[in-house]
Amino acid sequence: MDWAERIGANLAEVQSRIRRACERAGRDPAEVLIVAVTKTHPPAAVEAALACGLRVFGENRVQEARAKIPLCPGSARWHLIGHLQTNKVREAVGLFEMIQSVDSLKVATEIQRRAEQAGRRVPVLLEVNVAGESSKFGYAPERLLEELEALNGLSRLELQGLMTVPPWSPDPERVRPYFRRLRELKEACEQRLGVSLPHLSMGMSGDFEVAVEEGATMVRLGTVLFGPRTPAVRAGGGEEGAGGTGD
Ligand SMILES: *Cc1c(COP(=O)(O)O)cnc(C)c1O
Repeated sequence: MDWAERIGANLAEVQSRIRRACERAGRDPAEVLIVAVTKTHPPAAVEAALACGLRVFGENRVQEARAKIPLCPGSARWHLIGHLQTNKVREAVGLFEMIQSVDSLKVATEIQRRAEQAGRRVPVLLEVNVAGESSKFGYAPERLLEELEALNGLSRLELQGLMTVPPWSPDPERVRPYFRRLRELKEACEQRLGVSLPHLSMGMSGDFEVAVEEGATMVRLGTVLFGPRTPAVRAGGGEEGAGGTGD
């Protein structure tokens, strides 16, 4: 099967699963954006996904994005969803519309500096390590609240919400408390800042319906749209995703 056929069929199925999850939660499916995660997949997959109506794409490594994005149609919009090192911020600001994985004041301050040089504002999400897993990147919730006002003071960053990669489980119900925790944390941030933060980026192929029931406005989907990633490719490279993405 070619990319377009595969993605078209998978997308229709995913959309109906999102619709049903929204019905259960009394939400409008238009509030849920699919971020198509294309790591390890070629530009042909992006092109086919665009033809199927997908618009927003996620990559977890600057190094891979740097090679891939210039080969993809300009209508694709890109979000960084993996850990960002300070020395790659300049490049990330040039490649990505949104950075979903801001996990320290240090990297945020560097984004501020590079965004200023580039004459743009950068929409960002703050990544939270809700379960406190030592293998993963992301803010500890208490730390996030401590740094929140400093983060919000960075004029070139548009704070739009929170993102998480919770512990993986074969049973999505076991992940629900972490999604709920992220939503509550967003409410705490909103209260502290006195502004509303529109986005909760949570839910991957194995658990996106539960995430939608818990309020996700962005689901980051790879496998369920594009099929399995090749293990050989996945294992390569120095920086890994959001730090053990459960795959
Ligand atoms: C790879 C990745 C995804 C997508 O994972 P799937 O299980 O294939 O849907 C989502 N979020 C992040 C941060 C990732 O690195």
